[in-house]
Amino acid sequence: TKYTAPLNIITSAKIDWQMDDTGNKVPVSGEFGDVYFSHTDGLAESRHVFLMHNQLPERLANLSPKQCFTIAELGLGTGLNLLATWQLWRQLRDQYPQLASARLHFITTEKYPIPLADLTQILTLWGQRAPELAKFIEPLLAAYPPIIAGCHRLNFFADNLSVDMWFGDAAESLTKLLSDKSTQPTPYIDAWFLDGFAPSCNSTLWAENIFAQIQRLSCPNTTAATYSSAGIVKRALKKYGFYIHKVKGFGRKRQMLTAIMTDSDKNDHISDPTSDNTCIDESRDTNDKKAYSAFDHTVIIGAGVSGLLMAWTLANRGIRVTLLDKSAPLAGASGNPRALLAPKMTPIHHVDEHLHTIGYLYSSRLYRQLNQEAKKEQIPPVLESTGALDLLIKANIGTEQITDYPNDMATTLSSEQAQEISGLKEQEVSENLYLSQSGLVNPQALKQIILTHPLIHFQQLTVNRISETQSQVCIQGCDKDKSELAITADNVVVCAAFESHQIDKRIFDCRKIRGQLSWFTPTPEQLAHLPKIPLKYSGYCALFSAQTGDAQLNNVVASQPQFLLGASFIRNDTATDIRSEEHQISRDKLITAIPELSAVIPTDISSWKGRAGVRTQTPDYHPIVGQLIDSNRMWVMSAMGAKGYALAPLCAEALTDMMLGSFSPFSAAMLARLSPHRTRLQTPLV
Ligand code: SAM
Repeated sequence: TKYTAPLNIITSAKIDWQMDDTGNKVPVSGEFGDVYFSHTDGLAESRHVFLMHNQLPERLANLSPKQCFTIAELGLGTGLNLLATWQLWRQLRDQYPQLASARLHFITTEKYPIPLADLTQILTLWGQRAPELAKFIEPLLAAYPPIIAGCHRLNFFADNLSVDMWFGDAAESLTKLLSDKSTQPTPYIDAWFLDGFAPSCNSTLWAENIFAQIQRLSCPNTTAATYSSAGIVKRALKKYGFYIHKVKGFGRKRQMLTAIMTDSDKNDHISDPTSDNTCIDESRDTNDKKAYSAFDHTVIIGAGVSGLLMAWTLANRGIRVTLLDKSAPLAGASGNPRALLAPKMTPIHHVDEHLHTIGYLYSSRLYRQLNQEAKKEQIPPVLESTGALDLLIKANIGTEQITDYPNDMATTLSSEQAQEISGLKEQEVSENLYLSQSGLVNPQALKQIILTHPLIHFQQLTVNRISETQSQVCIQGCDKDKSELAITADNVVVCAAFESHQIDKRIFDCRKIRGQLSWFTPTPEQLAHLPKIPLKYSGYCALFSAQTGDAQLNNVVASQPQFLLGASFIRNDTATDIRSEEHQISRDKLITAIPELSAVIPTDISSWKGRAGVRTQTPDYHPIVGQLIDSNRMWVMSAMGAKGYALAPLCAEALTDMMLGSFSPFSAAMLARLSPHRTRLQTPLV
């Protein structure tokens, strides 16, 4: 049967160009036939309408330390509003020292994302017209995600700015945002940028269901601004709880709207349309109603990839972290010499709710950012951007599904192309999947960067007991000299993999799966015939160059290339001895997938090295991320299986958001799927 593309996949914007009054080229939407920004001066209009009329200069300047301000935009378009906001935020942070630990969260939605090549062209023109934006354009373009449905979180750590790009219909994306009033603190939007195309040509973005969501996600004193003063916009804002003002529009536009959510349901007042006063009652402090959490110190138990990423994420939000482990950091399953970062693919119409895809894309983005830090610190790169070939794609989900993925995430190659890129000579799998953003993670480099964060302190401690009171948690244990120690904190996060259940019986007792990674030093002759990029089959293999840190920790020879093969999966085995039969299993898997390598991979495996660890997995294969039941201060992040480097960074963002009361990059449904108390985890494993 002929394959037809699913209807709900994302369509990229089609950009047309027009000349404005001053001879500047301006982009026009092919779908809507409308301009993305004003012909007169889009940047000045953006500042006038969205920044000034949401009173951002004053409200942002008045944030308290650690407070988070959340903006939601309908219609990312070219990102001009985002850039103008970022520039204002940077300027204010330079001016007001108390903003050093405050955070700006910019949530934006887009149904037709602009392809990177067009966006680059549009923003390059802006960089020339408004040089003050240039320093924001470059990192935005570098972080711009592949055009895939779902939420893409972009973190700009130096500015304490998180941008969530929800690709998909805004009505659907807004529904996914969790603002659960039963949890404290509850996330709310502080300011809305209503920036659809004109209501006459873009009715879906001004529809009642959108305004109902705006109301759900707002609280008293939330503001909204829009260039439009159309009757349907006024009526909808009023109907859904906002007090509106008409004010002078930008340039030749007579009017625009600005609005504030009122405490009361009654909202029958519209001010004098000719008045140009600012919209908000000056006597109110527009920030004061928003509850925000100001906790200071968190203990994390377990210094594997989950604990490290959790520490890093909290520390980046200004929280002091004590990271505990009974052994050294990365002593468990996540301490292999290298980990392959490659996605587990899914049919494209599931992609927005597929943790493996959005987690992988986030990790890849984060590790590339950290590579810049690593360079400054003269540490080896966190991610070696090698790309990877997946040879089993046809057997797994069918290549037809892959044709709808953007090429910058996944693309199929012919046998000839696959041979060219891998250096293999006879690889005849008819379709090979090439993953350009994949690569090899260097866990030690990542650890080094994380542990140099000034707010993270590592301490060796075997935890025996956790007690929780109204105001704090107390963690008791023995340090490496067997001395008893007690640490108090505001929160504790258990990231202790399969040992989490021993630490707190409310955490599900997961499956334990032993995995051994194998590697050997190839001769120059072998090296010439080994695959040049990492390959994924029923196992995976990759060449890597060992560095000094690797040699100390993993007994490999520094600066000599190594060939690694992974990994065994042995259920219910928690021993970590190195076994030659598991080297053999990994060798067999590779030879079965790529027979031509039987002549290259040595049959004598006696000199092979290895490392074994215990992975933790739930019956439904989802990690465990969330708050423990009947607890205000105890959280868990665990059970990443063999995918910690792809899943932990975004799960850590989501858990940190839950703890601090900000919006998660996960949908409410996904948060429920990851909950420590989901029904699938109620029955013990057999
Ligand atoms: N804020 C943008 C900027 O700074 O360049 C301009 C936004 S443009 C006026 C409106 C945007 O809304 C377009 O990019 C359009 O594709 C998007 N859009 C239209 N309908 C949508 C919908 N139902 N859901 C999400 N985005 C939508």
